[in-house]
Amino acid sequence: MSIAENLHAVQARVAEAALRSGREPGEIVLVGATKMNDAERIQEAIGAGLRVCGENRVQEFLEKEPQGAYRGAEVHFIGHLQKNKVKHLVGKVSLIQSVDSLELLALISRLALERGLRQQVLLEVNVAGEAAKSGFRPEEIAAAIDAAAQYEGVFVRGLMAVPPICRDGKENIPYFQLMKQLFIDNGAKKYDNVSMGFLSMGMSGDYETAIACGANMVRVGSAIFGQRVYPAR
Ligand SMILES: *Cc1c(COP(=O)(O)O)cnc(C)c1O
Repeated sequence: MSIAENLHAVQARVAEAALRSGREPGEIVLVGATKMNDAERIQEAIGAGLRVCGENRVQEFLEKEPQGAYRGAEVHFIGHLQKNKVKHLVGKVSLIQSVDSLELLALISRLALERGLRQQVLLEVNVAGEAAKSGFRPEEIAAAIDAAAQYEGVFVRGLMAVPPICRDGKENIPYFQLMKQLFIDNGAKKYDNVSMGFLSMGMSGDYETAIACGANMVRVGSAIFGQRVYPAR
């Protein structure tokens, strides 16, 4: 299967999952997770209709961006972000999905204000409490949103989560439901720079389940681009 065929199949399944959950297909944002794929393959996906790319390493973004990899699409940052790399992203990507601490939020805000812009972000929730993953604890989210109100250089647009890798499509349902509840509980919060519109969860193994549970943004890599081949170390 080509990238275009894969993409169209994923788009169709996203649309069906949206309709099954009583929503319009257009309400769901499909983010193509482009890690380990070169500029040419990314352009192939964009040419076939991909509207949003998600990169999870700053280095890859910096290499591919000047090659025109993302021409015709938006770019989101979806990976773990180190503080010393924030400067490469602020104002360069349309959404940083993976803000995992107030320190990081403060830093993004400061750089954005220096650059005369407002950076859109999501707050990442470590929904399964995994030691190896970053993110706010679910019980910290309400306070984090309130705290975000003071950082005028950011615009908080919602929540994202990366639950454990799922093989059968269903294992993460409890985590998706917890995220949906957090999204509802905090969705009414409105500040000048907070408007909770996006719930980003679901990957190749479980994006339809995530949509059924309330996701309106899914991040799909291998189902579009094929299995990633990691270089031997
Ligand atoms: C790679 C990645 C994805 C997509 O993973 P697939 O299983 O290939 O669909 C989604 N979210 C994040 C944060 C990723 O790094």
